[in-house]
Amino acid sequence: MHKDEPLPTFDVIIVAAGEGRRAQQGIPKQFAPYLGKPLLLHSIEAFAKMNARRIVVVHPADSLDLAQQLASSYGSVILTAGGATRQDSVRRGLAASREGAHPLVCIHDAARPGVSEPVVRRLLATLPDAGAAIPVLPVVDSLVRGSDHAMQEPVDRDGLWRVQTPQAFRRDVIDAAQERWLGETNASDDAQVARAAGFAVALVEGDEKLKKVTFDHDFTAAAPLMRVGSGYDVHRLVEGEELWLGGLKIDYPRGLSGHSDADVALHAITDALLGAIAEGDIGSHFPPSDPRWKGASSDKFLLHAAELVNRRGYEPSNIDLTIICEEPRIGPHRDAMRERIAQLLGVGLDAVSVKATTTERLGFTGRAEGIAAQAVATLVKRS
Ligand code: MG
Repeated sequence: MHKDEPLPTFDVIIVAAGEGRRAQQGIPKQFAPYLGKPLLLHSIEAFAKMNARRIVVVHPADSLDLAQQLASSYGSVILTAGGATRQDSVRRGLAASREGAHPLVCIHDAARPGVSEPVVRRLLATLPDAGAAIPVLPVVDSLVRGSDHAMQEPVDRDGLWRVQTPQAFRRDVIDAAQERWLGETNASDDAQVARAAGFAVALVEGDEKLKKVTFDHDFTAAAPLMRVGSGYDVHRLVEGEELWLGGLKIDYPRGLSGHSDADVALHAITDALLGAIAEGDIGSHFPPSDPRWKGASSDKFLLHAAELVNRRGYEPSNIDLTIICEEPRIGPHRDAMRERIAQLLGVGLDAVSVKATTTERLGFTGRAEGIAAQAVATLVKRS
């Protein structure tokens, strides 16, 4: 098949049924963000662009909602719940696409986000003459056996290949092979199943970009070095409330009103942190309708946002907060606020700036009806 010829159509089964325990992302790794979008979405989009006729996604049985959310923008995605083993999951994917099955099918692992058309083209070019084809790369490092951290005999790497996905099959071949494999132990890929059933499997050149994303550091290594978020908040000044501002209780005849302690400054910083990691806003994490947050100290909100930042592999680099009010005067409290915020975030004092401005007696802040705050947060990737 020449590279200018249109790619033949095919069906694809994306196996995304694992729990992804090795990558500590809080959700199965296939739904965790990788280079700006869920890991699984990279494969769905890549195959959709290649005119895959049908895309079947095999998701973990208990993650239907996550899978639906993700597939909702792709009308042609068929969702099916996975099984206990990889081969169970593949079988379910095949079953979900049996009706009107295309004679060519690719089976792909969602943990390999770097699918490109040239690889699929090379695979499909060997079909239908070959029954199956897989992308492989040479082993470049030398290989040894070892146990208990001690080297044993070297292994000749001649004739050894690293196996990737997608793997391409004639539909009749993989259906027959899967049937014969029933009851066998788990296979780590589908080519093994085809070969065990007596079918020849062709090798084509793979792609380093198809590297499997496995560990936490794979996610953080792919993340940008720096992120920026901004936050803005306003609360009303009322009689009969304590004034909490910048994590401090401030002596003033009135206080800010809100569901929590209404610390407008910490709320703006919390939103800046959440914004930097695109994790919604303070209201989506701590809805005012939830009685748990009634009168809550806003320290909690800030700490939660900092924890999410940390889980994403980032740490705050600096915070720049501006408090906008006619009164009280912020100057006398500025350094104590910086200290408190730095302490909550576990950063140095020089990473936290607190500024204040009035609005020249204009508007609600000028009339001292309320206080506004805005914040910018920069995050850097944790080394
Ligand atoms: Mg607020």
